[in-house]
Amino acid sequence: MRSSQTLTIDERSLIVALFSTLESHYGWFDWWPSDDHYEVMLGSILVQNTNWRNAQKSLDNLQEDLSPLAIEEMDLTLLAQKIRSSGYYNQKAKKIKAVTQWFANYEYQIEKVRQCSVEQLRAELLSINGVGGETADVILTYAIGKPSFVIDAYARRIFSRFGHQVPKSYETFRNQMQQAIQPETKTYAYYHGLMVEHGQQFCLTKPKCEFCPLVATCRRVGVD
Ligand code: SF4
Repeated sequence: MRSSQTLTIDERSLIVALFSTLESHYGWFDWWPSDDHYEVMLGSILVQNTNWRNAQKSLDNLQEDLSPLAIEEMDLTLLAQKIRSSGYYNQKAKKIKAVTQWFANYEYQIEKVRQCSVEQLRAELLSINGVGGETADVILTYAIGKPSFVIDAYARRIFSRFGHQVPKSYETFRNQMQQAIQPETKTYAYYHGLMVEHGQQFCLTKPKCEFCPLVATCRRVGVD
């Protein structure tokens, strides 16, 4: 029996074709709104279960303390208050402290982090309390610059409507994407951006299929 992790030629073609159509429609853009690797790490936690606007408000409140040393020294309760706008602020404050503690193992030097393999770093990030697959992959791709495909709710929705049998498991779906798309940081960063953009512009909860660039090939599974 075929493992659900191994893609058929048809599944691989479907994934490649979907991204290729979205690339033609949206063109190239840089996705994550910051070049500061530590700010990206914090943003990946702050945006959990909320939108970017709320996460950005929290980052703005931290503006004068946006360095790992300042966050390391900051009282946990004060940190939680400063990031209130992003919701779940007590848990998120603990997660930010935990990711900062992990970064301290590398003396807060991103170049030292980059010397390690993506596999090692992903395992380390996943072992941090409160860091799941999506957050780990965002940190790897956007903060560290190592290619690790980010799966989110938009990717699940778009691919399942398009006609791909999306596995429940985050890891299995990510592995499928990584089989279909060559690991390259810029591409993975861009493709996650395409999923978010498309999920917000066309493939909404109530999809706008009539105007969607994928309508000619999409099977519209589950869409009335
Ligand atoms: S055609 Fe409709 S269901 Fe398919 S991707 Fe576009 S918006 Fe989503």
